Amino acid sequence: MQVLKFGGTSVGKPERMHQVAQLITKDNEPKIVVLSALSGTTNALVAIGESLAKSDKDEAKAKIEALRAHYYTFIQDLLKKEELRAEAKAIIDEHFEFLLITLKISFNEALNRDILAQGELMSTKLFTLYLEEIGVDAKLLPALEFMRTNEEHEPDLDLISEKLTALLEKEKGPSIFITQGYICKNFKGEIDNLQRGGSDYTASLVGAAIQATEIQIWTDIDGMHNNDPRVVDKTFPIAELSFDEAAELAYFGAKILHPASIWPAQKMGITVRLLNTMEPEAKGTVISTATTSDDVKALAAKDGITAIKIKSTRMLLAYGFLRKIFEIFEKYRTPIDMITTSEVAVSVTIDDATYLTKIVAELEKFGTVEVDRNQTIICVVGNFVAERKGVVNNIFEALTSVPIRMISYGGSRHNISLLTDRSYKEEALQKLNTHLFDL
Ligand code: ASP
Ligand code: MG
Repeated sequence: MQVLKFGGTSVGKPERMHQVAQLITKDNEPKIVVLSALSGTTNALVAIGESLAKSDKDEAKAKIEALRAHYYTFIQDLLKKEELRAEAKAIIDEHFEFLLITLKISFNEALNRDILAQGELMSTKLFTLYLEEIGVDAKLLPALEFMRTNEEHEPDLDLISEKLTALLEKEKGPSIFITQGYICKNFKGEIDNLQRGGSDYTASLVGAAIQATEIQIWTDIDGMHNNDPRVVDKTFPIAELSFDEAAELAYFGAKILHPASIWPAQKMGITVRLLNTMEPEAKGTVISTATTSDDVKALAAKDGITAIKIKSTRMLLAYGFLRKIFEIFEKYRTPIDMITTSEVAVSVTIDDATYLTKIVAELEKFGTVEVDRNQTIICVVGNFVAERKGVVNNIFEALTSVPIRMISYGGSRHNISLLTDRSYKEEALQKLNTHLFDL
């Protein structure tokens, strides 16, 4: 069984949905197809929730009706048969009636998550109707029946596997199953989700849960690129990556894949292919356990980073100092990305500055604290075996004109990270691109 995931833009227009139907029926491989909401829908649902949160019912209502109109237009081009169009309209109305009810009841976070779930629920039902229209035997598997998160809000892979296997065993007929990305139920049995962009994560979890032969993530770009195409003038798709390299890239900026979606596939050793709906024959990027070459694969950047330096003479020859520092970040559930130390100071970076003021106040008990906002992590990803000479040289040669605030090398074999001010990001990525890839 294969798992194929199509993102919002791949289902965002009727003709794109038609194309997805062609892609999933071109062979007889049994498959589970994971769909996102139509592009723009989840953002619209977030906006509706925001209007409700500030009790602006008129604004919420206007947004709900605008979205409904979009769906009415969508089904006109999606379906030809009148009776199926009527069925599609009834589905849309059912979901929008629910959204209108939210105007009348008290708003809370659980209700907000119900609202956010409507996008995937609609896209999968509409797509299944289209498959029916063209005579494809497919079955909708409701994600809410098997996708589960635990008390830590993490997906419970064992439970997902148990439930999904049981569901599939009951289904002897079709070989194409359609399910919703992103949505799940939490341990309380409430509707929840895997965070924005979470459909990739669903695909990887589903693939791991059923030990799929392959997981395909279909988007509108031809794989992961060696650099950010929006920033530098020349880039190319990377043919092969290891799971570790892909994880670094997904975390540090490559928008094409949700970073959490690597571990389930990696755990079960299932190959992940990133493919392009607009160019289905293109090779894309293969992420697998196969070892790849020992060189630089890609560059990525992550903006919005805050650097914090804690300087203390008490650190000199002391033990336990780092633990105390880390405990503060743990207390505020704030992950640290980079860390560098000297004998009397330690610098760390964080991406989520929600609790910055509180963190800094507590850190000040240990010494002087300096904060630099608006930093960018430039990340060089590859397979840097320790014996290889000249890797670091090459990087620094490229960056002679860029001031570097922190460097992290040797933490993993797959990542060399540099911290610079956001204003140097473009220059750093461009110069590294030219120097390391001859582009
Ligand atoms: N529809 C959700 C979002 O826009 C999940 C996804 O597309 O991956 O974030
Ligand atoms: Mg996505």
